[in-house]
Amino acid sequence: MRYKRQREIVNQELLTNAHVMVIGAGGLGSAALYYLTAAGVGKITIVDSDNVEESNLNRQVLHFTDDIGRPKVLSALRKLSALNPEIQIEVKYMRITPTTIALLPEADLIIDCLDNMDTRFILNRFCIEKGIPMVHAAVEAFEGRLTVIIPGKTPCLACIYAGVPPKKGEFPIIGATAGFFGTAEAMEAIKFLSKKGKVLAGKMLIVDLLSWEHSIYSTTFNLNCPVCGGKRW
Ligand SMILES: [Zn+2]
Repeated sequence: MRYKRQREIVNQELLTNAHVMVIGAGGLGSAALYYLTAAGVGKITIVDSDNVEESNLNRQVLHFTDDIGRPKVLSALRKLSALNPEIQIEVKYMRITPTTIALLPEADLIIDCLDNMDTRFILNRFCIEKGIPMVHAAVEAFEGRLTVIIPGKTPCLACIYAGVPPKKGEFPIIGATAGFFGTAEAMEAIKFLSKKGKVLAGKMLIVDLLSWEHSIYSTTFNLNCPVCGGKRW
């Protein structure tokens, strides 16, 4: 009964048999995790190293006021298990470094819900080396971007952001921006896993939520990419 309203439009068996790993249980992760859990993705691994802080609560809607000080992965586990006890949820309370990333399992799909480029590049290398597709989103203020990276088929994150200096430190963000793009990440994951529609593979969607101005452009291989080699396999 749980999936009655979606069975006609998605292949539930494909979702039930899938393993998705969500990196980051913050603003993007809160929305992505809610919808992946509700949709019945059979196994979800959540990776995060932070504890809930009061200043997270304007956007990280998986976490409540009484979670302050608690690891985000445990706060997320509690809510998501209550939402859907039929799926398997595994948590990894760990910081991703070039060394620790080897401890992560190999999933069918990875969702990048991170908030910094340094960790994203470590994750990108892992995905390319293991051949795991990745949904990438990034948000700031009222803007965000979304793409899907398929190793061997599309440019990787290092291709896309070649020469772009990574921003450091805190940036302003309103919760609905993170929610909008986290939901869009879940949508791409559901489409990809259930083989419905067209995901943004090799395409980048950019939306300014203040004006609804948006564009989709094709991402390009960097021929000198140190991660993917800048070419199709
Ligand atoms: Zn590349």
